[in-house]
Amino acid sequence: MNLKKILALSLASVFLLTGCAERREAAQQMLENKKMENRHEATTFAMDTIMTFTVIHEDGDEIIIDAEQEIRRLENLLSVTVENSDISRLNAAAGKEALDMHVDTQVLLQAGKTLGEKTNGMFDIAISPIVKAWGFTEEEHHVPTQAELDALLPLSDPADVILKEGTAYLQKEGMAVDLGGIAKGYASDKVAELLKEKGVESAIFSLGGNVYGIGTKPDGEKWEVALANPLDANDYCGLISIENQATVTSGGYQRYFEENGKKYHHIIDPATGYPAESGLLQVTIISESGMEADVYSTALYVMGLEKALEFWKANGGFEAIFVTEAGEVIATEGADACFEFEGRDNDFTYRVVKRG
Ligand code: AMP
Ligand code: MG
Repeated sequence: MNLKKILALSLASVFLLTGCAERREAAQQMLENKKMENRHEATTFAMDTIMTFTVIHEDGDEIIIDAEQEIRRLENLLSVTVENSDISRLNAAAGKEALDMHVDTQVLLQAGKTLGEKTNGMFDIAISPIVKAWGFTEEEHHVPTQAELDALLPLSDPADVILKEGTAYLQKEGMAVDLGGIAKGYASDKVAELLKEKGVESAIFSLGGNVYGIGTKPDGEKWEVALANPLDANDYCGLISIENQATVTSGGYQRYFEENGKKYHHIIDPATGYPAESGLLQVTIISESGMEADVYSTALYVMGLEKALEFWKANGGFEAIFVTEAGEVIATEGADACFEFEGRDNDFTYRVVKRG
């Protein structure tokens, strides 16, 4: 073969290659456009909070309606404000009798108890009498007296929630269960399951801040969730990327009231009955389990940074980002791998904690 021929051939193959790449790009673009056409969004109010859905699927609208129905079904079992819910009936029968519970309620009560033990009592499904005493249940806030809290603390022990053969029983009169720190996380797992069953490979939804991302965005990039700035509702501290994962944030700034110039928030330290003062402003958990992420965001907020990091080192299965009162943002090494810190402009500092 002479030089001319070789040149011509290699040029032809270059053209062939670019032609191929162009076609591939066009096909990719068409696929993305198609996926964008299948993008369905909705917002709804349930479980006392705002819920948003983005589902990429040709039947997205119907699938979102199915998801909303599933959430309402769970709300009707688990809510303390729904009159005949399992939890309302259970609370009304405290100190009196054991009642049959729906299988979802059983699973959630058992998980609440187990995760309560695992977090050394920092997560407490029986905390309701104390949450109520602070007025967070009826939104009639006031600071309870020490005598009131002393009387209620013995009524908030999850060991007195007795689960047996499909029934639940609160052993002491005056006890009550509150699933506010776990139910939305559980619901997010159930919705993710339902969406996947319906063939959804790309979706993101937020059940009042309990975010779950299925697969990736249509362009193949991970879903991105802004990490709220706990000091400024209009700002954020960075971006968390998730793929088939949940991320949940807890913070005292999310719900609080002020009395005599002091702020009192809604995350209670079960040891004292007072809003947790752990030196943390915010805890964010990233996990494949929405329920565990929900529980841990609450429990690790109560623990404070040092104990929370010990807990993370001793238990696998999740990653965490903490914001301290001192203005430090601290990520576990796994969280660092999917987090882009953007808080420098707001005077936050950033550091990563390794497991070893
Ligand atoms: P979260 O927003 O997930 O951190 O959950 C906070 C909610 O859980 C509160 O509004 C209470 O209803 C409830 N709660 C407060 N303190 C605790 C606690 N130590 N353990 C379990 N649930 C709690
Ligand atoms: Mg929580």
